[in-house]
Amino acid sequence: MLAAHAAELTTIRRDIHRHPETAFEEVRTAEIVAEKLKSWGLDVHRGLATTGVVGTLKGNRPGQKTIGLRADMDALHLQEKNEFDHASSIPNKMHACGHDGHTTMLLGAARHLAAAPDFAGTVHFIFQPAEEGEGGARVMIEEGLFEKFPCDTVYGMHNMPGFPVGHFAIRSGPMMAASDTWETTFKGTGGHGALPHRGTDPTMVAAQFITAVQGIIGRNVPATQTAVLSVGHIAAGTFGSPNVIPSDVLIRGTARSYSPDVRALLERRLGEVAQGIAQAGGCTVEYKYFRRYPPLINSAEQTTLAVEAAALTVGRDKVDPNTPPITGAEDFAFMLEKKPGAYIMIGNGGDEEPRGCHHVHTPLYDFNDKILTTGAAYWLNLVQLELGDAA
Ligand SMILES: [Zn+2]
Ligand SMILES: [Zn+2]
Repeated sequence: MLAAHAAELTTIRRDIHRHPETAFEEVRTAEIVAEKLKSWGLDVHRGLATTGVVGTLKGNRPGQKTIGLRADMDALHLQEKNEFDHASSIPNKMHACGHDGHTTMLLGAARHLAAAPDFAGTVHFIFQPAEEGEGGARVMIEEGLFEKFPCDTVYGMHNMPGFPVGHFAIRSGPMMAASDTWETTFKGTGGHGALPHRGTDPTMVAAQFITAVQGIIGRNVPATQTAVLSVGHIAAGTFGSPNVIPSDVLIRGTARSYSPDVRALLERRLGEVAQGIAQAGGCTVEYKYFRRYPPLINSAEQTTLAVEAAALTVGRDKVDPNTPPITGAEDFAFMLEKKPGAYIMIGNGGDEEPRGCHHVHTPLYDFNDKILTTGAAYWLNLVQLELGDAA
């Protein structure tokens, strides 16, 4: 039955691809989602995190259990370089992460389940805005997502380029990294480049700090765990004044980690190292750490269910239940902080595809329409496993 919807799903997906909308501006996309859900008979709620849509479907058998299935709807600020018919019609906006496909796969599952709601309990179909850097999932939660739509468990899915069509990958525990931003401003007197002894030099302090940061990874993070600290921005002085010691140096960077403990350690140690080195150099430091996305941690029981659902969909030999963690971040992690659940990767195709493999966030990327029904079927199998036997 899903296969019969393949052409329709492809049409929906390409329409969304042609009209990409970025964070909290997914107005047209949300309208399409809400209208389709309503036309299939779901209860539809709009407006969480501005453009969020939640469709609710009760099974035709009695049951108290409730699950949330989540898709993201937003596009990126990127100029598409594809030339096919469904390429973006909006300059500098593009569905380069496949959220057009995620939205469509979840719509496909909603349509199928609405036509035959043979399950016990309730499914909330959660369509969220602003996954890319803006934390739309967090905003939906803050605005009452799980109070309005209580979920016992939550599930998410993302396409993975370079991984074959018809394959799934997941792991229990930490699967994607926390992504945080930190900022240090070292302040000294600065002064004449010829007379450094008359002042304090924050550039020396900054240089020592940048080197010392990697000592946090090597000496403070346990050897059995991992983290990344990278400097991404340095600003001091002016180009025209190489003979002036600047009075302050700004350094900004990213911090990636896979556990709340290591995340807290990075936050604390970056500050301590910055303070210590600043003091040794006669300078001061202003230090800020911005917690952006938490680590994405799959719960064990729901990961097992997700593996079973994927195995039912494509065969056990095509499901990797122990894929390595990814250093990228994903805001579904906010939902997994609140509810047990699991996030799975679905292969978007590798170099076996005629167009080759283009990775997400690149201008030649496209979601692979061949996996629309595979992804929808995964959702259906998951609902059957979660809500099929309950009485
Ligand atoms: Zn992305
Ligand atoms: Zn994405």
